[in-house]
Amino acid sequence: MGPVFSLSVHASYRCRHSGVCCSSDWDVPVGLTVYKSLDEALRMGSLQAAAGGGPPLITEGVPEDEAAMVARTASGDCVFYHRSSGLCVIHRDLGAAELPSTCRHFPRLAVRDARGTFISLTHYCPTAAACLFESEAPIQIVASPPAFPPGDYDGLHVEPDAWPPLLHPRMLMDLDGYTAWEYHMVSRCAEPGTSPETVLATLERDARRLRTFTPGDSTLAKAVAALPRSHVDGLAHATLEASLAHHAQVMAAVPEELKPERDEVGLAESYRRLVAPEWGTWHRPLTRYIAAKAFANWTAYQGRGILSIVRGLDAALALVRVEAARQCRDARRVLDAGLLREAIRGADFALNHLAVGEELASAWSEVEDAANLNTSEPEHERRTENPEG
Ligand code: SF4
Repeated sequence: MGPVFSLSVHASYRCRHSGVCCSSDWDVPVGLTVYKSLDEALRMGSLQAAAGGGPPLITEGVPEDEAAMVARTASGDCVFYHRSSGLCVIHRDLGAAELPSTCRHFPRLAVRDARGTFISLTHYCPTAAACLFESEAPIQIVASPPAFPPGDYDGLHVEPDAWPPLLHPRMLMDLDGYTAWEYHMVSRCAEPGTSPETVLATLERDARRLRTFTPGDSTLAKAVAALPRSHVDGLAHATLEASLAHHAQVMAAVPEELKPERDEVGLAESYRRLVAPEWGTWHRPLTRYIAAKAFANWTAYQGRGILSIVRGLDAALALVRVEAARQCRDARRVLDAGLLREAIRGADFALNHLAVGEELASAWSEVEDAANLNTSEPEHERRTENPEG
């Protein structure tokens, strides 16, 4: 299974029983082994549903490779969710080992490849989102994180003989080279005082330079190490226009039955008046959020190059802007920590739980066709290189 890695800010994650994952009207499939043991516990009386009147485990019309689905109440709570205590009664009465696999793994989002297991979290979970604000740890990739012991985590499992990520559509990376790029993306996010826009502008410049790499005497990992130390200044967005375009692209990757109703009235105004003036206060959690999207990145395997990865990071930040505008509009107040945390939750809900990953990767990969391999300079005309980096 190999070693396990996570980001430092997630390394001590622990469920705080917010109950969000148990009350989101989600399908919770139950595999055969867990089904047998839950069924017996229900028959013996050592387990009882906390809500709902019907059978707690539904066995009709379930996916082929599952034995049952957990029933839900009319309001979308899992029937094993004990609302007043915020506890799962399976976890409370039988222990974590008896939980359906989905529940044991949420909010973990793993990538397993020949190097090991890389675990990020979906910040739709409020506790995971809080990690971006609360942790004092400098952002970096850490091995053997205490929160994630070695195990078989759900997520993207890359077969040992599968291709490594692409540098660009005409060249594969070797895994050492990809590791160097992954660490590089996270280390850009760790530069103190850097704005999220500067992180993205710098990564775009770096990705474009790296695309010009040709195998010869050197290695891709050395080419990553030789990238300029300077950064590219990215300007904060004065308007929401570009972010709404990213948002529309993400929504296009959401299946029809899951698409939320369009809700954009007043967002541009809310962003300009309530979000933009406060955005600079929140660089630290925002750059950490970008690091969390760069690390254990699925687009690396599903997309067609490293510019696609950067485009996905751009989209993630854009979604936070849009959700922040929505939060501030609804709360009628300027952006604060609580509203930003909700905005980040909303962004990850769309990216990790609504949109289809392969479709996002395909849309973001269009940037690879537009990019000219002979130029290493960013296209964004508002960005300027800062040699003081
Ligand atoms: S089985 Fe337990 S952990 Fe899973 S959704 Fe239901 S209440 Fe939550």
